[in-house]
Amino acid sequence: MGMKPLVAGNWKMNGLTAALAEIDRMAAGFDAALAGRIDLMVCPPATLLAALAARATGTGIAVGGQDCHAAASGAHTGDIAAEMIADAGGTAVIVGHSERRSDHGETDAVVKAKAEAALRAGLTAIVCIGETRAEREAGRTLEVVGGQLAGSLPDGAHAGNLVVAYEPVWAIGTGLTPTPADVAEVHGFLRGRLVALLGAEGSNVRILYGGSVKPSNAAELMAVPDVNGALVGGASLKAADFLGIAAAY
Ligand code: PGA
Repeated sequence: MGMKPLVAGNWKMNGLTAALAEIDRMAAGFDAALAGRIDLMVCPPATLLAALAARATGTGIAVGGQDCHAAASGAHTGDIAAEMIADAGGTAVIVGHSERRSDHGETDAVVKAKAEAALRAGLTAIVCIGETRAEREAGRTLEVVGGQLAGSLPDGAHAGNLVVAYEPVWAIGTGLTPTPADVAEVHGFLRGRLVALLGAEGSNVRILYGGSVKPSNAAELMAVPDVNGALVGGASLKAADFLGIAAAY
């Protein structure tokens, strides 16, 4: 398909100032050969966003946020606007991560509004979807992810400002992963839905797999058709692991 894979790291609520040094180690390993093959991104906690973006300048490593509010500014204590992420040097933001959906009750409509805020601010929206274990066992995986995709996609999306991340909730942080055949089924389904929703643009939107990606399983997962990169949690905290995943391409 010719699209450049994206390997994005989601640090979640991990990382104090000392973690900034990790970006130097990542940059040291992100050589021209690797940079020619993949895009690399780190999404740190908001407290590190500006410092990390400054430290990553010139390394080719992009920086993103983990969430944003739908509004551009205003009386929303504790929240961060997409415009603030852009102002801090971010170029993307994750929206609709399953931990946001479960910890903060974010619905598809909320996620869609946040994704539209990302586009308004000139950021790439990384829209996360994924089924729970109970939904998978009930045979509802495609119905669930199809509904989340249709409900969460921002208006105005195209291949240049949208990334979709398929993250089975039961695979996040558990060490469990779907089989390559299961991943292929979901990603193939999502590709079809993206084309149905966005037209020809939908064939070029990157679909990341996320959930317990690590260096030892990255090659197998990334070889699956329509897997155009990875969203990595735990294994993105250390440069050696993160680069090991990137090198799977
Ligand atoms: P994990 O998290 O790689 O630690 O499973 C993935 C994610 O939540 O993005």
